[in-house]
Amino acid sequence: MKFADLGLSDELLHAVRDAGYDEPTPIQASAIPSVLMMRDVIGVAQTGTGKTASFVLPMIDILAHGRSRARMPRSLILEPTRELAHQVAENFEKYGKHHKLEMALLIGGVSMGDQIKALEKGVDVLIATPGRLMDLFERGNILLTGCSLLCIDEADRMLDMGFIPDIENICTKLPKQRQTLLFSATMPPPIKKLADKFLDNPKTIEV
Ligand code: AMP
Repeated sequence: MKFADLGLSDELLHAVRDAGYDEPTPIQASAIPSVLMMRDVIGVAQTGTGKTASFVLPMIDILAHGRSRARMPRSLILEPTRELAHQVAENFEKYGKHHKLEMALLIGGVSMGDQIKALEKGVDVLIATPGRLMDLFERGNILLTGCSLLCIDEADRMLDMGFIPDIENICTKLPKQRQTLLFSATMPPPIKKLADKFLDNPKTIEV
């Protein structure tokens, strides 16, 4: 399988070449075409399998080729830790350098001021930890009604850290008509339950 066979745009293929990747990893080969077809996806994959690019690359293409009708965020990536949120933001910048997508990194431990300014300017993608996202939402700084693309990353770590109630709460604030991706290294029963509740006819990919 080649990157060129997955349905990504030329700009993304260029970014992949710049990153020095020769061919897609198994999770990328399976997930990227499904995400581009707007399907819900469950990816059962460990860190190190290339799973970040398997959602970041198609998300960039979807966001770049859809039109923004308002300045509301159009997509949300949830990460359990600040470090992971940072890494995903770096990936977004690396692969998205040929696009003009705006991103806000909403994590704890830093002042809310700059995050609120970024939100006011208008962003395409939010990369957030659940706690800070809920804080900003409850203060009225974020509208989630335009977020029709959601990615819940490292779901089993979210469970270990007690974030499942926050995630359920966040899911109820997003539009019902949306595309949802869920990645997890393992699928314990509470994560299966979460997926049953919030994903629609997902394609499950295990690597
Ligand atoms: P991840 O599993 O997303 O944490 O990615 C693990 C590492 O694999 C990262 O350093 C990526 O830059 C790298 N990587 C991702 N996709 C590929 C690929 N198709 N070929 C080679 N390396 C890759």
